[in-house]
Amino acid sequence: MSTPAELRCRCGQVRGIVADASPDAVNRVVCFCEDCQAFAHQLDRADLLDAKGGSDIVQVAPASLTFVQGQHHISGLRLTPKGLFRWYASCCKTPVGNTVSPAIPFVGIVVQAFDGGRQRADAVFGKPIGAIFAKHSIGDSPVGSKGISLSLMARAIRMVLGWRLRGRTWPHPFFARETGAPIYPVTVLSQPQREALRPLCGPHPTAEKRGPG
Ligand SMILES: [Zn+2]
Ligand SMILES: [Zn+2]
Repeated sequence: MSTPAELRCRCGQVRGIVADASPDAVNRVVCFCEDCQAFAHQLDRADLLDAKGGSDIVQVAPASLTFVQGQHHISGLRLTPKGLFRWYASCCKTPVGNTVSPAIPFVGIVVQAFDGGRQRADAVFGKPIGAIFAKHSIGDSPVGSKGISLSLMARAIRMVLGWRLRGRTWPHPFFARETGAPIYPVTVLSQPQREALRPLCGPHPTAEKRGPG
């Protein structure tokens, strides 16, 4: 049941292990929200978005993720002062985990981070079980329903509560238990920096995406 899955950044310097990797132990959804799109553009990693701007995310319990290599490359980004902590490998701009705070224990990881080497994310986690925030998907025909699926939401809440109750918050890969503070450096975008990303995002981008680098 609990096969470990290897997470690695594109260049291979940052590596981690997700201990309990199986379709039942995680929540895999495609998120079309504007913030996930903006984050990918901020990193110049729009290649990670699907054709409609979706980010394919695997949510895992914090304690199941352990970084084993390249931790000094990990940095955090917040799109706003109270936004999600979006962690990434600064060596090659690969997202390695989105988090709120230890009080809401989950880590959302782009599925491409699990596709390195011989392992295939679909084989480990199964296919995505649905889409969220589809109203921000790019183009005139949104993916699936416009609202948030209640069953998907219920499943996510049940899972996060379960992790919390079963003590799967600690050790947290991104926060120190003693202080609750981030372990890695965090940058917050200024409001002009955040606004500059909006024309790149769905549902109707008005700017061309920037080239790599
Ligand atoms: Zn890297
Ligand atoms: Zn999102």
